[in-house]
Amino acid sequence: MLGYCPICGKPVYFGEKKRSLGRDYHPLCLKCQQCQRQLTPGQHAEHDEKPFCTNCYMKTFGPRAGKGRMMSYCHSSASSSSSSS
Ligand SMILES: [Zn+2]
Ligand SMILES: [Zn+2]
Repeated sequence: MLGYCPICGKPVYFGEKKRSLGRDYHPLCLKCQQCQRQLTPGQHAEHDEKPFCTNCYMKTFGPRAGKGRMMSYCHSSASSSSSSS
């Protein structure tokens, strides 16, 4: 069965697919959408159908996101785009 990579939208052929969290990715597409780090299938977080490393996920979407300003954050260009719906 041919799956489609949720990142680039192109077909993922058998043999090149990385299956993670119920989706098929290209090996090169399965990377953190924040820091571009290569991810290990099944060992990363996901938000809005996009893969994130657990690090970035916690920083961006975790319980402390937007609140833990006391933490020593690095300068983040991705400012909060109010995801409160
Ligand atoms: Zn892809
Ligand atoms: Zn990351």
